[in-house]
Amino acid sequence: MSIHQGKLQIYNSLSGQKEKFEPIHQGRVGMYVCGPTLYSEPHMGNMRTFINFDMIYRYLLLLDYKVKYVRNITDAGHITNSLGEEQDSIGSAARLEQVQSLEIVYKYNSKFQELQRIYNMLLPSIEPTATAHIQEQIELIEQIMENGFAYVVNGSVYFDVRKYSEKYEYGILSGRKIDELAEETRTLNAQDEKRFFADFALWKKSNPEDMQIWRSPWGDGNPGWHIECTAMSTNYLGSHFDIHGGGMDLKFPHHEDEIAQSCGSLGCNPAKYWMHANMLNVNGQKMSKSFGNYFLPKEIVEGTTELFDKPYSPNVIRFCMMQAHYRSTLDLSQDSLDAAEKGYTRLSDAMLLLDKLNTSAESSFDVKSIVDSFYNAMDDDFNAPMLIANLFEAVRRINLVNDGKETLSATDRDLMKKEMKAFVLDVLGLQVGVANSDSKLAPVMDLVLELRQQARTNKDWTTSDKIRDGLAAAGITVKDSKEGTSWS
Ligand code: AMP
Ligand code: ZN
Repeated sequence: MSIHQGKLQIYNSLSGQKEKFEPIHQGRVGMYVCGPTLYSEPHMGNMRTFINFDMIYRYLLLLDYKVKYVRNITDAGHITNSLGEEQDSIGSAARLEQVQSLEIVYKYNSKFQELQRIYNMLLPSIEPTATAHIQEQIELIEQIMENGFAYVVNGSVYFDVRKYSEKYEYGILSGRKIDELAEETRTLNAQDEKRFFADFALWKKSNPEDMQIWRSPWGDGNPGWHIECTAMSTNYLGSHFDIHGGGMDLKFPHHEDEIAQSCGSLGCNPAKYWMHANMLNVNGQKMSKSFGNYFLPKEIVEGTTELFDKPYSPNVIRFCMMQAHYRSTLDLSQDSLDAAEKGYTRLSDAMLLLDKLNTSAESSFDVKSIVDSFYNAMDDDFNAPMLIANLFEAVRRINLVNDGKETLSATDRDLMKKEMKAFVLDVLGLQVGVANSDSKLAPVMDLVLELRQQARTNKDWTTSDKIRDGLAAAGITVKDSKEGTSWS
């Protein structure tokens, strides 16, 4: 067991408190995160949630846990919004684009995979799709029916919330009380098939316009949205696993209903720790397709969104996101991105400098306590903004050593190098030295600068000047200093 395990505290939405993280099986973690519904390109808000869980996954890996990270792809079924209304968004997109449903999913999944690369996200261990797990969903529904918590009406199956509430607590996660729900949903229509307003669909009889239909013991239809996640999470992680995550907006009804389905079929809450990442806002309002206040993750990198007057590198955007705690809302503004660009460059420069620092016999400051502060920050419910503040204390010291005002021993320098790399590259998922908006340019620039260096070594000034002038004409400035050559 790694010496760093055993100190992590996680805010559990189920208890509303920070709790010591004790995995069900020592040294191993099973984590399920609700993935995207791929009826369109994920927006920056969706990406914030996935990037936050990427950071959480990365820290668990740094702590040397063997993590099985499952993040699904919703490619089937009816989507229920917070009012309980059902919309088949994939089907609607397919009809609009006049293609088949899976073409829509395939198209937007390739975009999503590309975004994961651009934003330097680690791939989950498995990305299961709902359509590949229809059988498991049907079996779970059968089990819920056998346990007496569901009923069939006209080819659809509904979860019986009142019956469930006799044995379990509906609202255990969201704190919603059935009486309050009645108030909220009073105005809803299309409730007629349900025995009770809070009941939700496990299986929905097909409509003539449905693009995808499956056979079931109750006739042709589609699975409910919530049952998809219950089937995929428990199929890969077992009936009770460590962490279930998703965006805050999924707490109710999606996660509440997942708990009800798991208790109603397998007899237990599926996850020990429920984690919810907060929203990316635009001027204080949740970024959302339906509000029309969204921008795409690629637009911000390419500088094509009207909101910002220049492009930002994925590193700068990630850094900016990491400066907000995952449980806090974040508003991406030009000012916050500009500040992040400066901060990220300062951190990145200091890390490059660390390699070249002169060392002394002894350090004039306590490196170990700085390194400990990195772990302490992340152990406190993945406090990435605190980690960044502590990394800047390291940056301040590195600059003082460089100015000859502090000293650093070789051993301490190596320790600092190892741990800063671990936290900046492996945990925050940043790359060093690519503040430039186009990260694809970085390897090309490395090559060009290497050729220029060769020309200079050969005293071939014509070629080296040609390269420099050509780059200048393309808006790229090359700077030579005793630390090496840099470009911007
Ligand atoms: P969806 O594709 O709508 O199911 O959403 C995929 C994920 O993105 C879910 O975990 C949502 O909670 C999350 N999400 C949606 N909008 C936002 C937002 N504005 N900020 C952060 N996360 C969001
Ligand atoms: Zn889900």
